[in-house]
Amino acid sequence: MSRDSNCVFCRIVAGDIPSTRVLETDDAIVILDINPVVKGHLLVIPRAHHVLVGDLPDDLAGHVGSLLPRLTRSLASALGAEGTNVVINSGRVAGQEIDHCHWHLIPRFSGDPVRWPWPRDAYSGDDMARTASRIVDGLG
Ligand code: AMP
Repeated sequence: MSRDSNCVFCRIVAGDIPSTRVLETDDAIVILDINPVVKGHLLVIPRAHHVLVGDLPDDLAGHVGSLLPRLTRSLASALGAEGTNVVINSGRVAGQEIDHCHWHLIPRFSGDPVRWPWPRDAYSGDDMARTASRIVDGLG
């Protein structure tokens, strides 16, 4: 399994840095984020070191995906979360600070202070169709 001894999350996986774990599987751990956006904010961390979401083997991405419904149900039933944001920051430009791909699960409550500051763009002419076509080509 790939590991980077300079990576904070590899060191957490190995137990060299303490963490508060809520779930462990053979291929992933789930910990509380040390600086939560909202209390209960979870990080799902594959044990193997892969930097970007595009670097993940499909089966590992599938395994992590399979944990999300159960974790989200727990945030709802145990903490009373009314919703959840599931986010991957992949790449520095997308806000990734730790170069070991991981999922954020952020429990959401009515009136919580989170505001997603995402602007919205619009397509014009055949931009939408041409963008889709380029992505389809990229899928290979
Ligand atoms: P990202 O910007 O997507 O790479 O997110 C990295 C996340 O890791 C941030 O939300 C940090 O608060 C969190 N984090 C960093 N160090 C630790 C740690 N030692 N234990 C738990 N969470 C951490």
